[in-house]
Amino acid sequence: MQIKNITALAPTDLLILPIRQGSHDLELWLAKLPIDLRQTIPLFSQDKDTFKLGQMQFFQSSDAVLPRILLVGLGAKTIENYQLFQTMAKAGQSAVKHQLKAVTLALPVEADQSTLQLCGTALAWGAYRFDKYKHADTDKTYAGIQEIHVLTAAPLPVLAGQITLDAVQLIRDLVNEPSNVLTPQFVAAMAIQLGKETGFQVTVLDHAAIVAEKMGGLLAVSQGSKQEPQFVVLEYGADFKDSPTVALVGKGITFDSGGISLKPGKDMHEMKMDMAGAATVLGTIYAAALNQTPIHLLGLLPLTDNMPGSKAYKPGDIITCMDGTSVEILNTDAEGRLVLADALTYARRFQPDYVIDLATLTGACIVALGHEAAGLMTNQEALKTQLCQAAAQTGERLWPLPLWPEYDELLQSTVADMANIASKPIAGASIGGAFLAHFAKDMNWAHLDIAGVAFGEDALSHGATGYGLRLLLEFFTILLAPASAAIMQRTISFH
Ligand SMILES: [Zn+2]
Repeated sequence: MQIKNITALAPTDLLILPIRQGSHDLELWLAKLPIDLRQTIPLFSQDKDTFKLGQMQFFQSSDAVLPRILLVGLGAKTIENYQLFQTMAKAGQSAVKHQLKAVTLALPVEADQSTLQLCGTALAWGAYRFDKYKHADTDKTYAGIQEIHVLTAAPLPVLAGQITLDAVQLIRDLVNEPSNVLTPQFVAAMAIQLGKETGFQVTVLDHAAIVAEKMGGLLAVSQGSKQEPQFVVLEYGADFKDSPTVALVGKGITFDSGGISLKPGKDMHEMKMDMAGAATVLGTIYAAALNQTPIHLLGLLPLTDNMPGSKAYKPGDIITCMDGTSVEILNTDAEGRLVLADALTYARRFQPDYVIDLATLTGACIVALGHEAAGLMTNQEALKTQLCQAAAQTGERLWPLPLWPEYDELLQSTVADMANIASKPIAGASIGGAFLAHFAKDMNWAHLDIAGVAFGEDALSHGATGYGLRLLLEFFTILLAPASAAIMQRTISFH
């Protein structure tokens, strides 16, 4: 799929016109619309409820240049970028439903470049499909939307949406891939291939190297599976000596059965998505390398299945993590924090300025925030501000959750330094964060619990969402241009 900027209306399968309620957006377009629609559309738009947020109206015309028009309601109020993204994604989905190949997006004149980019990306996002394994009931003559044209009055200096699009698609493909295909070795091989293509370094630690590094958390989780664990280290931009070093850590449980503390059968198939953090880190470094972003990045991916095989770790076991902390296992389904603990310890040797981990860590985070936002836990206030700015800018929502010291007490064990779950089933997302904070120690660290946002359940976003890539790329922009932080804060939706 290609995204392009055009400055003059050209023949297209579908013209998408987002319209603000009570605005002149439609009037400005009427003269350019096909003759047979010039009367129909104004009649339709007289209803006061027309153009409510997310309302779609599809029109067909006999015109050869503009055979179809989709009016998309943007509502009467200033909308958050999250809502704008969701709305434009629905428009993309509608284009796929009509089996269209080329669509043109024309936004109101005031839209700025980042809004245009967000909308273009959202259209493509809505049009994504994962159907490579479907044969019988798929119309293979339709290969999805091929081109998205973003119409603007003047040419845009940069429309960097293409790389973002490709990287989001890569992440979604990886997360949607089933675990019988996507093993730790598969991810490691993919990382090596992408590193070769785009110029970042990839080092793969195999089982023996993981043993040598004494990664007791990763080894314990992996021992119930026949798949060998892998610990993949990505490095990009080591030559940017003056730039900050950011270590990204991604939870890479390629399938999470829960282990001996087996999960219930319902929805267990979705646990192929428990490596979404690792996929997002890989996709982000891939995109940064393609964009040649002047920043030093590390990606740390602890990859393993969590299975209940005969050698599996068990409740009651006491393991020793890489930093020497002993952990009493009270539930083998709280495995993500064990592999992340070792990855955080490994990150320390690079003395990063920032460490950000992304993990589908707790069901409790979904209970707290639903599928609307990732939970953000951090030991550094300035990092929180920057990440929240990036979240507002991209519409990839974050919501801060506390890391109060009292949570540490709930992780006390009578026989080890810590337990891997709390003594009571409360504040589960923060408990996960508190466990990781022990291993992040004095590094500037943020934990993003993406359990609720990495994998969608509704019709719009069923399967992998690719959440986090746009957020992180925006975070890098903010980090690299602190002077323009004030500009970043502005509302970029229509105003
Ligand atoms: Zn688990």
